Amino acid sequence: MTVKAVVGAQWGDEGKGKIVDLLAQEADIVVRFQGGANAGHTVVNSLGKFALHLVPCGIFNPDTLNIIGTGTVVDLDELIKEIDMLENKGISTANLRISNRAHISLPVYSQLERLSETERGERKQGSTLRGISPAYAAKALRVGLQMGSLHNVIKFRTGLTEVLEGGNRLITKIYGAEPLNLDEIVERYLGHARRLEPYVCDSLGFIQQGLTANKNILLEGQLGTMRDLDWGIYPYVTSSNPLPGGAAAGAGIPPHKITSVLGVVKAFSTSVGEGPFVTEQNNEVGNYLREVGLEFGATTGRPRRCGWLDAVGLKYAAMLNGFTEIAITKLDTLDGLESLKVCVGYKLDGKEIGYMPLTDDLYRVEPVYIDLPGWKQKAASARSWEQLPRRAQEYVRLIESYCSAPATLISVGPEREATFSR
Ligand code: GDP
Repeated sequence: MTVKAVVGAQWGDEGKGKIVDLLAQEADIVVRFQGGANAGHTVVNSLGKFALHLVPCGIFNPDTLNIIGTGTVVDLDELIKEIDMLENKGISTANLRISNRAHISLPVYSQLERLSETERGERKQGSTLRGISPAYAAKALRVGLQMGSLHNVIKFRTGLTEVLEGGNRLITKIYGAEPLNLDEIVERYLGHARRLEPYVCDSLGFIQQGLTANKNILLEGQLGTMRDLDWGIYPYVTSSNPLPGGAAAGAGIPPHKITSVLGVVKAFSTSVGEGPFVTEQNNEVGNYLREVGLEFGATTGRPRRCGWLDAVGLKYAAMLNGFTEIAITKLDTLDGLESLKVCVGYKLDGKEIGYMPLTDDLYRVEPVYIDLPGWKQKAASARSWEQLPRRAQEYVRLIESYCSAPATLISVGPEREATFSR
């Protein structure tokens, strides 16, 4: 039996989707444990290219049970779009389940987020405007709706109306904005309820059975360490915990049953939205990484901010996640660079510091770089460790040392085949 948490070591968009798709070939169950439809995983395999937002990336293996876990917030409009997209491309969703304890994200939440970001103006948090933070806030305020409510249409209508009315009160009274048309939303959501109800279940039963039967389970994270609600660059974080601690709670797995933590590390840094980004390159290096690495958001299409690898951030991530192994992605994007820089220290007020500062200080931090030579042959064409250019191998070893874990997977292209183990 293995229970492997696949988590992001940086700001998200490390390529977790690709890695989960690959590992799911051997997995019995994949559980997406937190987040909503705000960030997307891109998967490229023999069936095509797919952007998934809520559906776990094991969906392409018909023998894998895919669970949208308890720790998630589910946007029914988006989930239906995603199910339709998959079914239209011939991918069955018969192996999809949704935890009855997951929360429902509603249009009032995205409207509230939009109004809040507009009000913040310059101080905006860079939200994807998918209503994630109001949805988690409603959950924490204990005024949210769980997916299990879809099982009883009459109760669902009452609960939904109540939540929507509450949202509309905030929209009109706090922001002085137009209320949403509740009748239209209620009718649409009742249709969604009928459609999605068969997927909703008590996911704990499946997970417990899987543990008892020594099955292989993958816990799929969204975003990454620096966006963790507690440990990330607050307030430019997400409203849940992408760390493996969040995986235990969000999937419903006792922490000691997690047998490995696989950190996905992109070979350079990217960040979407606002917040400090110590190694950002607002120059031709950043443009090169964005163009060659196709660094544009899967959900929003937003260009990602790009920069050099931040090994200080990786060390911090290693402490919080306790990686037992790592997967290094996008080494191919660095092909063709004459030389590389890696940030190995932070200076604050001229002094090197040995900790991750709070967000305000992180804006003021200066990176301490080491210079490394680039590699001449292409990492992109390697299909084994031996075929990887020697300097790319050295780069991998450097990342391993900061992550305190071996790289068991190396990825040199978006496709499944462009991956090898070590
Ligand atoms: P996730 O949210 O962590 O799954 O990451 P995203 O899917 O948002 O972003 C990763 C992007 O990189 C996707 O477009 C992947 O197809 C792509 N990708 C993953 N691994 C590699 C790789 O090794 N090389 C290249 N060139 N692209 C990769």
